[in-house]
Amino acid sequence: MTPEFRLQTFAGPLTARHFTAPWGSTTTAGVVLTSLPPGSDGAVSVRLQSSCLFSEAFRTADCDCALQLCASIKLLGVEDGIVVYAYQEGRGAGLELKCRSIMLQQEKGLHTAAAYRELGLPTDLRDFEVEAAVLREFLQPSQDIRLLTNNPRKVEQLSAHGFTAVSRRPLVMKNPSVRDYLDEKQKVLGHLIDDVEDGDP
Ligand SMILES: [Zn+2]
Repeated sequence: MTPEFRLQTFAGPLTARHFTAPWGSTTTAGVVLTSLPPGSDGAVSVRLQSSCLFSEAFRTADCDCALQLCASIKLLGVEDGIVVYAYQEGRGAGLELKCRSIMLQQEKGLHTAAAYRELGLPTDLRDFEVEAAVLREFLQPSQDIRLLTNNPRKVEQLSAHGFTAVSRRPLVMKNPSVRDYLDEKQKVLGHLIDDVEDGDP
C-alpha cells in the first residue's frame, strides 16, 4: 500500500491510499478512502465497493452502484468510515464477461444471475479477501464494523476473514429506474432491501 495522501471530495477532505492485489485475485488494485482519526478504535462504517464503469462513468440507469458509492463517501464526510474501492467489474467476472452478460440479458430477457449461469459463471466470484486485508491495516479484528450493504453475503465474507463484530447497515437508493435490478437482487441474490438512505451526491 502506498503512503497516504489527501483527496478533496464532495464530502470534504479524505485520506487515500493505493493498494495492489496479489496475482489470481478477482481485483487487481484499488484505492481505500478513510475518515478515521489516528488510533480510532470505535465503531466504523465500511463500504466494500467494486468498480462499475457503466454507472460511474456513463451514468447508466441500469444499476445503483455509483449511487451507493456516493452515499458511502457522503457518510465518510460526517462519521468515521472506510471505503475500499476495488477494480473488479461484474462481481469479479471482468468487463468483457459483464458486457457479454448484458448482451445475453437483452437478447434472451434474462436477469443477471441467469445470464451468468448461461456463461458458466457463479453469480458472484468475489471473496473479498483483498478488501479484508486492506481493512486489517486500519481496524482491529474485534472492532465494531457497520458494513454499508444490502448484500448479506458481504457480511458473511468479512466475518469469515476474521472480523468478529460486523453488522449490516442498509444502503438503498431512491432511484425508480433501477427498480427491476433491485427486485432481482432481492429475489435471486437475497439482498435485504428494507431501508432507504439518500444516495444523491
Ligand atoms: Zn453497476
